[in-house]
Amino acid sequence: MPLAKTFSRHVSHPRRIIFLSASAGLIFFLLFISISLTLSMKRHAASHDRLAVYTQRYLSNVFSDLQSTLEPLQAATLVSCEQVRADLTQRAAFAANIRAILLVKNDIAFCSSATGPMSLSIHQISPFTDASQSRDIRLIAGTPMVRKQPALVLWLANNSRADSGIFTTLNIDLTPYLLLTSRQQEISGMAIAAGGQALTTWNERVIDRSALPDHPLRTVAVPGYPLTLYLYGDSMPQREIHLILLSGLLIGVVIGCACYLLLMLRLRPGKEILLGIKRGEFHVEYQPVVDAQTGQPYGVEALMRWTHPTEGRIPPDAFISYAEGQNLIVPLTRHLFSLIARDAHQLRDTLPVGTRLGVNLSPLHLSHPTFRHDVNRWLAAMPEGHFVPIFEITERAMMSGKEADDNFEWMRQQQIRIAIDDFGTGHSALIYLEKFQFDYLKIDRGFVQSIGMETVNTPVLDTVLALAKKLNLNTVAEGVETAEQALWLINRGVTHMQGYLFSRPCKVPLLVAYYQNAARPAGAACATADGNC
Ligand code: C2E
Ligand code: CA
Ligand code: CA
Repeated sequence: MPLAKTFSRHVSHPRRIIFLSASAGLIFFLLFISISLTLSMKRHAASHDRLAVYTQRYLSNVFSDLQSTLEPLQAATLVSCEQVRADLTQRAAFAANIRAILLVKNDIAFCSSATGPMSLSIHQISPFTDASQSRDIRLIAGTPMVRKQPALVLWLANNSRADSGIFTTLNIDLTPYLLLTSRQQEISGMAIAAGGQALTTWNERVIDRSALPDHPLRTVAVPGYPLTLYLYGDSMPQREIHLILLSGLLIGVVIGCACYLLLMLRLRPGKEILLGIKRGEFHVEYQPVVDAQTGQPYGVEALMRWTHPTEGRIPPDAFISYAEGQNLIVPLTRHLFSLIARDAHQLRDTLPVGTRLGVNLSPLHLSHPTFRHDVNRWLAAMPEGHFVPIFEITERAMMSGKEADDNFEWMRQQQIRIAIDDFGTGHSALIYLEKFQFDYLKIDRGFVQSIGMETVNTPVLDTVLALAKKLNLNTVAEGVETAEQALWLINRGVTHMQGYLFSRPCKVPLLVAYYQNAARPAGAACATADGNC
């Protein structure tokens, strides 16, 4: 993956992390509520089914008990009321819910358990009772004696004699059924329907069956009797739905936050740099700087390298500015210091005393509160008095304010030399020549590469070198690649040179070899294309 992409990927992490965490939270929320709602609905449906079965069983028992109480009375329809009245009254009294038992002959009720002999057409009591059926059940608004209380009328025909039978009025009370369902809060009402009439728990009067709400939760038919019971309500209690939604929301938020924390820890921008330091993915390469007059090595510039495990080698231009943007340049420079100190102990055996050691410093580190402490620690870790440190600082650092100015002064007191790096790439470079005291002027390789090409840069470089000579400044030409460039620069009084013509930046063993071969002519020692000496 190209580096620019690698880094833009990291910079966009915070938004991606928020998006990923919110998605994870949402997915968990949806998963939780869909699973919980499905399970809960299944549980409630099973419980409604059970309730329907119990109710059906209960009603069947009630009616079969009733039938066994009433059926023996069929014979009584053949005798006079006086003969059976006592038995009739007793049976009515001992059977639950019976309001009255009427004996019927030729469609006329001639004997009542409540009032004794009578003569009244059963259709006057229950207009819709169909006496031609062997069993019939109807709902009526009231009976002649209890006119305002709805009742169920049960017709049991005497199969051996037409238009005769037993006509029973039953008290009807849905309260026990409601009690049965009281544990199920989602059941809001019930209705019992017979023929075209219905009685509900929400209305005291008998209503038309067609006025019942559509879509009951469960419908319970009583086998053998034209009677239906309807259960109404929600498929699950509202409270439970709210609870599931709330729990889902809570879980979603917790999962989202946990994801956010986890991703922030794992993918935090800059984490890769800190991880890289921890895993030892950084190393330093050193590029020799030669004396322009003798061609002999004068010093080295330390250049940091990062070999990322998946991205491969990442150019320092990219990771340095990235580290600056992520406030990680200070730990990265501290790491650079420790790597240089470790290498220096190896290099001291070959590199002569007084070798200049250039280290690139970020302006951000220069104005950082720990700067002096970090530098002191580094100096203490270096082989004593062997190398002469040069801090390479760009013009940008010279505009960084009072703290940076004070640090310039302090560095000089610590015997640290200062080089202006990339001279000429800023806008007001010449101003700094007067304002600051420094030891080296590093001419940017852009200028050097324009030598011989007659661009506008060449006369500028000419002037800068003339001025530097006049001010008696050390100048280091960067990026010298050809002998022609080197000659041109030497003729204009450049004091030091650095570039592929002499050596590419290289690791410690090859730098050692370079120094060991330093007596050879310039360019022969170390200039391979793969970046190693
Ligand atoms: P720089 O300080 O100007 O470093 C010199 C750059 O020029 C190096 O690139 C070096 O490899 C390259 N170079 C040297 N000779 C030649 C040549 O003959 N031809 C060409 N085309 N290039 C040559 P590098 O190592 O890629 O570093 C790029 C920049 O990254 C450096 O520019 C410096 O600004 C920064 N950098 C590198 N290491 C560090 C470090 O440890 N700390 C800080 N703060 N910045 C660093
Ligand atoms: Ca430099
Ligand atoms: Ca430079």
